Formats: sequence, C-alpha cells, structure tokens
Amino acid sequence: MKLVTYQSNAGDAQLGALVGDQVINLAQASGGKLPSDMRSFLELGDAGLQAARDAVDGNAAGATVALADVKLLAPIPNPSKVVAIGLNYMDHILETNSKVPAIPIMFTKYTTSIIGQGDAIRWDPAETAKVDWEVELAVVIGKRAYRVAEENALDYVAGYTVCNDVSARDLQSEKGDQWIRGKSLDTFCPLGPALVTSDEVADPHNLGIRCIVNGETMQDSNTSQLLFKIPHLIAYLSRAFTLLPGDVIITGTPPGVGAGRKPPVFLKGGDVVTVEIDGLGQLTNPCVEG
Ligand code: ZN
Repeated sequence: MKLVTYQSNAGDAQLGALVGDQVINLAQASGGKLPSDMRSFLELGDAGLQAARDAVDGNAAGATVALADVKLLAPIPNPSKVVAIGLNYMDHILETNSKVPAIPIMFTKYTTSIIGQGDAIRWDPAETAKVDWEVELAVVIGKRAYRVAEENALDYVAGYTVCNDVSARDLQSEKGDQWIRGKSLDTFCPLGPALVTSDEVADPHNLGIRCIVNGETMQDSNTSQLLFKIPHLIAYLSRAFTLLPGDVIITGTPPGVGAGRKPPVFLKGGDVVTVEIDGLGQLTNPCVEG
C-alpha cells in the first residue's frame, strides 16, 4: 500500500491510501475503525495494516477523493524523532576520499523541519548562504524497537519514503561543528510523497535514487551502495534507544551534493528540487529565500 497524510479544503490532516490517482480516506472506509493520523495508525501494527487493506478492498467508493483535489502533507508529519546517518554511501565515501567509518555516523533533524510535497524550502539569506540538497532513503519504523537483533530488524519496518536532507553547509561546519543546527532549519526536511509499505519494496538495498535540481540530475546512484545496511542501522540504534512507530531513519546520501562540486553549487530562491527513489515516488519542493 501507498499510505499518505493529506488535507482537503484546508481541513484537518487525514490518513489515506493512494490507489492510482485516487485517495481513499481510511478512517471513513474502515467505518471509523482506523484513526486519521499516521502515527496512531502505525501504533496499531500488523492489525492496522490488515484493516487498511480490508478497507481498500471493500466498498470505498464513498470515501474516495481525487489526488488532484487534495494537498499531500509529509506522510508522518510528527514522528517522535528523525534519526539521520552521515557518510553511508560507498561511492560517496570514495568520491570524497573519506575514511570508511567504523560505526554509523549519527545525528538528528528536529521534527519541526518536516514539510511535505510542494511545500517551500525556505531560509533567511542573512543566516545561511550555502543551502544544499541530499536525497536519502527514509525508513519508517512500524513497531517499538529496543535491542533488536539484526536478523529480525526488517520486521520492525513499516515501509519507506523519500527524504531531502536539506543542509546549510556554512552552519553545519564552517561556523562551528553544528550539524544538528545546520540540518534542522524549519522546512529543511521534505518527506514523502507516500509511505510505501515494506511488502511492496522487494529489496530496499537495490533502488535507484536521484536528485534533480531545476531539471538537471545532480545525484544518481543506487541504495546498493549503502555501507551500513538497514538491519545493521536498526540494531545499532536500538541498542542505545527505543525506536517508536512512526520514527524515521534517513540513511545517508549518495555523491553529487552541491558542496562537493567544482565549483560548489548551492540552492537559491526560485530553484526547484526533486528527490526520487524507484518505486517510492518523487518529492518536489520549490526554494524561497526570505
Ligand atoms: Zn544526509
């Protein structure tokens, strides 16, 4: 299933299943059995997913709206946390002549940075002049995970979506080593367009992944290049802290970020950034300075 969080007529956020160009309201189609927000839905675990499948397969005609008539929000607008992994693509490590990390490099993006499809990435040019893109595979946790073994780790994944780990390079490094501040500016975490459930992703470690800026492909790789694979990340993180349903792990970015180009390229007002992963969809956001 492709699960979305959406708004129609500027109303409250709703939980939907995307079927072709139609969105089925899951709370309505399930006769009120399912909640209207993704986090509560994921907390229901496998029973929730089954109820959603039943609702989609049943008579959902009265609960259906055209995708063109709604606004998509981030599929999980309010996770308890976004855990981010740095320097995790072998092709990126080789390109930058970096040392291969011995353990995953971990930071966070505050959840207030999350935006959805079509929302503007916005920054104050007095605060940063080096805004960069990073396409990343985002893993969404489906079950409470603490001290999970690598062998079972994928059982804790609800599904996958696409993230743009937008990064202010000057704040991240040049003005002091402040990764979290430089990556947590409001609007710096576009997420979406949909949460694609695990059963629809045959191999998350073999997906084409790209970033396109103003029509030009800047990043083009495959998740097969991931150094620390998803089960290892879940096991490693959950040895330290609990991952809750709805938590998002973004798994690092492939080569081609603006800061690594010669000469470097940074985003400016009016630019349009698309991040995409095969099977998961495309997420497009315009840039606004001010
Ligand atoms: Zn990143």
